Amino acid sequence: MKRVHNFYAGPAGLPLEALQRAKEELLDFENTGMSIMETSHRSKAYDKVHNEAISLLRELMGIPENYSVLFLQGGASMQFAMIPMNFIPEGGSADYINTGVWSTKAIKEAKIVADCNETYTSTNGFKDLPDLSNIKISDNAAYVHMTSNNTIYGTQFNSFPDTGKTPLICDMSSDILSRKVDVSKFGMIYAGAQKNLGPSGVTILIIRNDLIENANKTLPTYFKYSTHADKNSLFNTAPTFGIYILRNVLLWMKGIGGVEEIEKINTAKADAAYSAFAASEGYYKPVANSGFESKMNITFRLKTEELEKKFIADAEANDFIGCKGHRDAGGIRISTYNAVSLESVQEFVKFMDKFRNENK
Ligand SMILES: *Cc1c(COP(=O)(O)O)cnc(C)c1O
Repeated sequence: MKRVHNFYAGPAGLPLEALQRAKEELLDFENTGMSIMETSHRSKAYDKVHNEAISLLRELMGIPENYSVLFLQGGASMQFAMIPMNFIPEGGSADYINTGVWSTKAIKEAKIVADCNETYTSTNGFKDLPDLSNIKISDNAAYVHMTSNNTIYGTQFNSFPDTGKTPLICDMSSDILSRKVDVSKFGMIYAGAQKNLGPSGVTILIIRNDLIENANKTLPTYFKYSTHADKNSLFNTAPTFGIYILRNVLLWMKGIGGVEEIEKINTAKADAAYSAFAASEGYYKPVANSGFESKMNITFRLKTEELEKKFIADAEANDFIGCKGHRDAGGIRISTYNAVSLESVQEFVKFMDKFRNENK
């Protein structure tokens, strides 16, 4: 069996241990005589998996009691619409911090629902981030929305603002559980699973209960968070296989030492890559400005687009897969999510040195 160095931005690589467990359990899950994906979402066998995934997530992230964990479908993109639908009251508004392509999409959806305030907009092509330590919040803001890690240009917030009584809502699609985060600072955290935590098809929501209780009541049933909170995310058929894989990934993470250990590994990976840029004497030029670099999506450019094309092709020939930058940003991007090993990044750094020597 050959496994490549997987740098895809999402869906992305999964821990081998989580996949192996799925392989072993695939045909006969815990003596049920069937796979978990063939089992009713109301069965005892599935119920156990479902609740185990929730309790592992609670444990690993330190989620306080007064928050609900929900598993929905529709991706983070559906949350771009559900958040304003649930939380902006009639005639109200919300504040949005625009730091990238995904924030822009969140704002576009929110503006369909209400008249939102874009309180920060990048003026230099999303290459850096605002200082939010003295954040100004509009009087009529139902919440403040931000994106913790900007997947496409490769910038990441190192800290989160204090928004006082106004709930802070954060799209953590591309860095959830990659580092320690104080959940109690947030009104809501959400993320598609397919980058750091599992396969596509599952969206993870962590919402403070009072926000769910006070959300708009006039929405269609499915679009109300309370519907899913009241039924433990089993209002309708849940994406059972995806949640099962999520459980396997969380078990793996717990086994290697939880978020503290993951954060150390992620920092070592990012250090290895960024110091390779510094050592390349301008051959590899980082996209993100200094101080704003993401530890999850490492973006850089070469001298010409032609050279970038050759770099991507050569990388692929050496089993470094998924290095092409997003079409909006161009260049090269390697995504170094939790499941990517330090060895993969170290091998890639060696490849970068070799490529530089051979393509002066
Ligand atoms: C990938 C991504 C999304 C989109 O996620 P879907 O699950 O495909 O809707 C949203 N926000 C961020 C920050 C992302 O990285």
